Amino acid sequence: MAKRYSGKFWEDRFLPRLSSTQMQKLPKKDSLIILPIGAVEQHGPHLPVFTDTILAETVLEEALQYVPSDSNIWVLPPLPYGKSNEHLGRAGTFSLSSTTLQSVILDIGRSLKQNGFRRLLLFNAHGGNSDLLNLIAREVRLETDLMVFRLNVGGLTLEENILNETERLLGIHGGDYETSLIMASYPDWVREDELPVEYPELLQKSKFLRFQKSNFAWTIDDVSSSGILGNARTASAEKGRRIYEQHGKEVAEILLEMMNFEIVSLIAKESIEIKK
Ligand SMILES: [Zn+2]
Repeated sequence: MAKRYSGKFWEDRFLPRLSSTQMQKLPKKDSLIILPIGAVEQHGPHLPVFTDTILAETVLEEALQYVPSDSNIWVLPPLPYGKSNEHLGRAGTFSLSSTTLQSVILDIGRSLKQNGFRRLLLFNAHGGNSDLLNLIAREVRLETDLMVFRLNVGGLTLEENILNETERLLGIHGGDYETSLIMASYPDWVREDELPVEYPELLQKSKFLRFQKSNFAWTIDDVSSSGILGNARTASAEKGRRIYEQHGKEVAEILLEMMNFEIVSLIAKESIEIKK
């Protein structure tokens, strides 16, 4: 029987592979627990609807290779569903409502607290979850006293020139970036004979409004007919492997910093004198 949870990542880092007794003995004070969060939503004619959840898992898998093996960093089962209501109505989208997603994350936070853990990272690979996760992170902090961190795969640094200018500005869904990553990790799940290219007319029609800084609320039907935003035809597995490596190294450093972070020591010990 082929095993779903095979390989070093799942053997070494998957928290629920431990028994209750093992879990009890785990040093909790300096541990970091990661909740990967993805989505099940349409990603155009060429990518699996599981793309974002795959990205959350695989970027973490890559990152943990660069972390010392004795680091006290553990991964919870990925939360495969996200808040994808911007894609509802397109085949393959299965969305949680924002209240459901908040409740699930709050319950997981409560359980972590009960288990004696102190640090939770919400590791997110779906852009549509980001705003809500910012909000819920503070709710979990307030209710449980856990230290709660957020990291969005979409916000990680990319080597210059790996994506062209248009793709960096507008290629936010199913384009070069995501297609390259899935080509590198799950090549058999990419429909290479149906690679689309579609950008909305934002650069021509507006000076400031983009998907990043000066933003506007949108649904996929407002901005795309194919269901994607970007160019999947410039994607390649080789490019995907380069992105995984860059993301992996960056995330590894961030994880180590989070693992050693203490929020109680952030208040300055001596008051800073203000010169008159
Ligand atoms: Zn995606």
